[in-house]
Amino acid sequence: MAETRKVIILGSGSAGLTAAIYAARAQLRPLVVAGSQRGGQLTLTTDVENFPGFPNGVQGPELMDLLRQQAERFEVEFVDDDATAVDFARRPFRVTVPGRTLDAEAVIIATGAGTNWLNLPNEQRLIGHGVSSCAPCDAFFFRGKEVAVVGGGDSAMEEALVLTKFATRVTIIHRRDKFRASKIMADRALHHDKVGVRWNTVVEDVLGDETVTGLRLYDRERRAREEFRVDGLFVAIGHHPNTELFRGQVDLDEQGYVRLHRHTMTSVAGVFAAGDVHDHRYRQAVTAAGWGCMAAMDVERYLEGH
Ligand SMILES: Cc1cc2nc3c(=O)[nH]c(=O)nc-3n(C[C@H](O)[C@H](O)[C@H](O)COP(=O)(O)OP(=O)(O)OC[C@H]3O[C@@H](n4cnc5c(N)ncnc54)[C@H](O)[C@@H]3O)c2cc1C
Repeated sequence: MAETRKVIILGSGSAGLTAAIYAARAQLRPLVVAGSQRGGQLTLTTDVENFPGFPNGVQGPELMDLLRQQAERFEVEFVDDDATAVDFARRPFRVTVPGRTLDAEAVIIATGAGTNWLNLPNEQRLIGHGVSSCAPCDAFFFRGKEVAVVGGGDSAMEEALVLTKFATRVTIIHRRDKFRASKIMADRALHHDKVGVRWNTVVEDVLGDETVTGLRLYDRERRAREEFRVDGLFVAIGHHPNTELFRGQVDLDEQGYVRLHRHTMTSVAGVFAAGDVHDHRYRQAVTAAGWGCMAAMDVERYLEGH
């Protein structure tokens, strides 16, 4: 029979690890199912300069290692695997990981979200070296440089406008001849004197050995390829929440993000959510950590009441 734990946390990004630290210090002896991407999205990037407490910045993977060490100091138990199934209809809740079933009185979902990347041959290798998906995080590194943004929705326009504060030139590359973005956002970008657009154009690859030096573009109208010199590529074609596992278990919104009902509680009492898995507005390590703290405190109160 599975041992029933007080709380299981799904995910080991900033939300999951912060929740673990708070839950452990509240004597809840949490178990973290860390997932196959241990440390979460921040392990994809290099310099993180906006996480409070690091005056000289910190490397993304190092920050996540430090958070994990901090959790381990309070004897948080880790299972370094993905959860493969959950059952929130029964009590205690059940979480299945390969070869084991785990039961808990409360669960925190902190499985995060992922960038929709372009799947270019050299894209993953250059993430953190000129390729990004987060202008508020990385625009600062492109002061005086030229960058491209791929996408045509509101978030692509937003990324482009953030980048204009630092870059000398921002080129939006869009595969169609008009944007999907709202008129107000599209106008704002189109009328900015630093922003240019390449319509009907797709990015075939990102170029560069150590850092990005350019893009290989294909102009669909002219049916011509060219190398386009830029120092950075911002991919802004959307995100996907990691919530497939929870479909039919808790309420999700139209885009698949977990819907919060009261504070950090989901539609199921005792199941909480924290970080990018529900928050598609802020998407920052520090906000995810904040949500993790809130979820752990809500779990503590919930368990006290039961
Ligand atoms: C390239 C890039 C650069 C960035 N730079 C910055 C920056 O400079 N500053 C900043 O504040 N933010 C930055 N961000 C954003 C930041 O990384 C996210 O906001 C933050 O990581 C969200 O944390 P999270 O814990 O909610 O989710 P995530 O970091 O997405 O973590 C989700 C966790 O859930 C796990 N998981 C998924 N499915 C399962 C499952 N079935 N079972 C168990 N576990 C599962 C994953 O393995 C992972 O451990 C950047 C993001 C990217 C992509």
